[in-house]
Amino acid sequence: MEARAVAGEWPHGVSHVCNLLTMGFLRFSFGTMSSGKSTLALQIHHNLSATSTGLLCSMHDRAGAHVSSALGVSTPAVEVHPTLNFQALAMSHQAAHGALDYLVCDEAQFYTDAQVEQLALVVDELDVDVYAFGLLTDFRGKLFPGSARLLEVADERLELQVQARCWCGNAATHNARLHDGIQVYDGDVVLIDDGSTAEVTYELRCRSHWISGESGPVADRFKAAG
Ligand SMILES: [Zn+2]
Repeated sequence: MEARAVAGEWPHGVSHVCNLLTMGFLRFSFGTMSSGKSTLALQIHHNLSATSTGLLCSMHDRAGAHVSSALGVSTPAVEVHPTLNFQALAMSHQAAHGALDYLVCDEAQFYTDAQVEQLALVVDELDVDVYAFGLLTDFRGKLFPGSARLLEVADERLELQVQARCWCGNAATHNARLHDGIQVYDGDVVLIDDGSTAEVTYELRCRSHWISGESGPVADRFKAAG
């Protein structure tokens, strides 16, 4: 982030103000599925990349080594594996390209605690702005570990305002996992193909319908999905 000195004002406070302005920040933007996280991540990367140097990162994206929006836009991205070290990534990028101004990190709910802590160090020690995006809770209604750590360490926590809806019309706050149309509450957080033949789908629910597991009429569910 570029500092702007305020000439002639606050003669005793300018250096302090500049220090504040030159600090990077870690912003965690969160929401449910369909709250526009990946769309916003792509837009921020697109805008910032016009005038600064940065990396787009993702994990378990539906398109693999990309950030892909449900709206159809997709951009190549650094694939984050559990062993990736963000400090090493940032320093090697700075060494190779002379600068690193920002990281846009999608699907950050899947990042490890160590990786979130590395992001905080990248902000504080390398003066890089980090824009992290993620789901807050999993299909069991529990905080994702990466999102919990981001809530703990982020400088800014923003709930995305593109609010998705339950089939009943109320605001969706929960992500439901369904096996052959029946909501389940147990299972691996990151679904690995276990040979099961059940069709796994996800739906957005209000808390009440997440707890009851109740699906709306098919016609209403179709409308909600559209
Ligand atoms: Zn509902």
